[in-house]
Amino acid sequence: PATKLPRVGTTIFTEMSQLAASEGAINLSQGFPDFDAPEALRARVAHHIGEGANQYAPMTGVPALREAIATKCQRLYGRKPCADTEVTVTSGATEALFAAFAAVVRQGDEVILFDPCYDSYEPAIELNGGRPVRLPLDPVDFGIDWQRLADAIGPCTRMIVVNTPHNPTGTVLSADDLQRLAELVRDTDILLVGDEVYEHIVYDGRRHHSLLCHDELAQRSFVVSSFGKTYHCTGWKVGYCIAPAPLSAEFRKVHQYLTFSTVTPVQLALADFLAAAPEHYLELPDFYQAKRDLFCELLSPGRFRFSPAPGTYFQLLDYSAISDLPDTEFARWLTREAKVAAIPVSVFCEQPLKRRLVRFCFAKGEATLREAAQRLCSI
Ligand code: PMP
Ligand code: GLN
Repeated sequence: PATKLPRVGTTIFTEMSQLAASEGAINLSQGFPDFDAPEALRARVAHHIGEGANQYAPMTGVPALREAIATKCQRLYGRKPCADTEVTVTSGATEALFAAFAAVVRQGDEVILFDPCYDSYEPAIELNGGRPVRLPLDPVDFGIDWQRLADAIGPCTRMIVVNTPHNPTGTVLSADDLQRLAELVRDTDILLVGDEVYEHIVYDGRRHHSLLCHDELAQRSFVVSSFGKTYHCTGWKVGYCIAPAPLSAEFRKVHQYLTFSTVTPVQLALADFLAAAPEHYLELPDFYQAKRDLFCELLSPGRFRFSPAPGTYFQLLDYSAISDLPDTEFARWLTREAKVAAIPVSVFCEQPLKRRLVRFCFAKGEATLREAAQRLCSI
């Protein structure tokens, strides 16, 4: 039968993690920590399972968790969404993104993406009848080309996807960027998706500027985040979407038939932990910056070129002084020869990249980072 997704194969994350395992390589490809979620959080999950919280959660999410998310938004972004009508807990950010597209994209609608971008957006848009329109980011600093965005906006533009901090480049949008975006979408019906799963992972004193911080933008945005990134528990797949009540109502129509609800004991535990340890996410920038700085320092004698990531737990490395191979082949070669696995950046791109870049996840313990960097410096 004809495939609905002719350009889609198995994701690069599955491919590279499998290759890393079969080659016995250090896996810095797929983004996940090699350290555990906080013990107190894990204990709360065990507690709730033991207490019998093992049946369906409410469709929109456990009330205490929705309330804790709303409180966190107020604290960080100066806006308190209504926990009942504007916050929906989802099975990971991936589900939230899919549901947001499915809720509002109609056949033939255009959805603007920046190139490179996270790989789940495009298939989710296409399956819902939309047409992804990719706008290349600046090849050097990965900033948005505002004139290009202005030119791309037209009568068919339904949505724009904004991912900050940005996977795979680590770019963090500024307050000024949000203001420019607001000026471009003012007087249009364009909706926004804010993929903010790395909201707590920004460096060098930067702040994360959420779409929720900006009154005009918040009114037209689905803001998506994920506890997987914040609490080192990517395997639990719990995320959420914040959107104005009318958009959340449409979002929930999809969510209730996509998954209905999300794992109950984990939601209860996250609610407990957010209340008991509200400082945890405030410590993440320093925690990850120490890892970024260590990784970069260890790599400095080698032949990779880089500028330290402004955010996320990914570091791009330019390998043009090492090899002429295209990035996908280079990533496979590196896994086999140096025994370190990475993600080729071209998988996030529609346009061929002008630079030779691979992405490394540094959410790893010090010994792993030291060993990986030593291997990378020896090639
Ligand atoms: N968006 C981005 C930018 C990501 O990097 C990821 C995954 N790591 C996701 C969404 C998906 O998050 P989740 O695992 O919560 O589905
Ligand atoms: N978001 C993670 C990354 O960019 C991986 C998620 C996945 O494996 N689908 O590496």
